[in-house]
Amino acid sequence: MDGITVIGGGLAGLTAAIACAEGGARVTLFEAHRTLGGRARSSEQPYVANDGTRVFYSDGEPFRWLARRGLVQPYRKLGLKEGRKARVRYGGTLKAAIPRPLIKAIANRRLVAPVDEDFASWATRRLGADAAHVVGKVLGVVTYDHDPGRLSAAFVWERFRRVTKPRFPAPRYIVGGWSKVVERLATHARDLGIHIEAGTRVTDLPTGPTIVATSLDAARQLLADDSLRWESGRAVLLDLAVRQAPGDLFVISDLDEGGFLERYSSPDPTLAPPGESLIQLQMPVRPGESKADTLTRLELLADLGLPGWRDRLTWRRDATATGRTGALDRPGQTWRDRPAIVRGDGLWLAGDQVAAPGLLSEVSMNSALVAARHALTALPTLRVR
Ligand SMILES: Cc1cc2nc3c(=O)[nH]c(=O)nc-3n(C[C@H](O)[C@H](O)[C@H](O)COP(=O)(O)OP(=O)(O)OC[C@H]3O[C@@H](n4cnc5c(N)ncnc54)[C@H](O)[C@@H]3O)c2cc1C
Repeated sequence: MDGITVIGGGLAGLTAAIACAEGGARVTLFEAHRTLGGRARSSEQPYVANDGTRVFYSDGEPFRWLARRGLVQPYRKLGLKEGRKARVRYGGTLKAAIPRPLIKAIANRRLVAPVDEDFASWATRRLGADAAHVVGKVLGVVTYDHDPGRLSAAFVWERFRRVTKPRFPAPRYIVGGWSKVVERLATHARDLGIHIEAGTRVTDLPTGPTIVATSLDAARQLLADDSLRWESGRAVLLDLAVRQAPGDLFVISDLDEGGFLERYSSPDPTLAPPGESLIQLQMPVRPGESKADTLTRLELLADLGLPGWRDRLTWRRDATATGRTGALDRPGQTWRDRPAIVRGDGLWLAGDQVAAPGLLSEVSMNSALVAARHALTALPTLRVR
């Protein structure tokens, strides 16, 4: 059987390579960085903060695909300890109870939202302005957008239904962080005979069947195809480690500003040294807002959730994520309208801004599995592009 080339060693590339190898193909994977994982990498011990991918939902097929191969185990679920330390910020203060407008939205989760209308208009009409507002802010955590109300109602509502499923909480926390999943994916790939060339940036497309599993920006350059564009979010990220204090919260879902604070070392203490906590915060950037101003808003969120954190700080880093947080669909668009996976001529795209369903990195994995299926089907008859 002929070989398949995969370009990119993030979740999409590793998934595509493994699926192709499991289908019987000879596979070579090229990754520009010396380390695999792309946005699914984590910082090194003793402070293990995930660069991108943080939480995976166990009710999605990508999680099941990984779990069937033993690649996400061991993981932790949320417990009572975390539940007791969860708050929302609403009307300027922290509350343990879910606000009424959010309860109203959850009670109406069976509604079907239109693709063509923006979420704010549709939800205001169906649920009232307060509910429309809080749902948008709840989804700051999965859209990384300052105003999800401007996006397609169907897109926003699908995500809201997903994160408020009756079997909630479905999030799973990988023990040791996402770099552990990347390590296991790489080991599994090598066991399947996949040839991995890390530290090799591809600048010219190979002639055989090829899956391009880079970010969409990198694919646009590599394929010299200016049509490869899709909207994504923009947020400031703040990772902290602090000496533990009894008053530290586990989660703040910020219904005022769309921010989010989560103390990941609560379900997984291996992420920080004994006696310390590892916390990751995010805040969508407003139009025209500077990083410094967004960071100030984020630090105020930290003040609420981690009283006195500045005096207990042992480690910190911050960054801005621009166009790296997955696809956003505007009114009139669905995932089917994003750049197609099948490019013709023995070329396929995978990644989190291409035409595949799912939440965040699920899009990368779903598109990778589709691309691999196509590549395997094409192999016997494919000649040279
Ligand atoms: C702050 C943040 C938080 C997130 N939180 C979550 C979350 O909680 N849950 C979730 O599911 N998802 C989350 N995501 C999204 C998730 O991280 C991404 O969807 C996923 O990691 C993308 O994987 P990928 O393989 O498609 O792309 P990437 O991870 O970008 O991998 C592409 C790879 O291609 C390589 N490459 C590029 N060009 C070339 C070239 N020419 N030759 C060779 N290699 C090349 C790059 O070096 C890179 O390693 C988050 C993202 C961010 C930024």
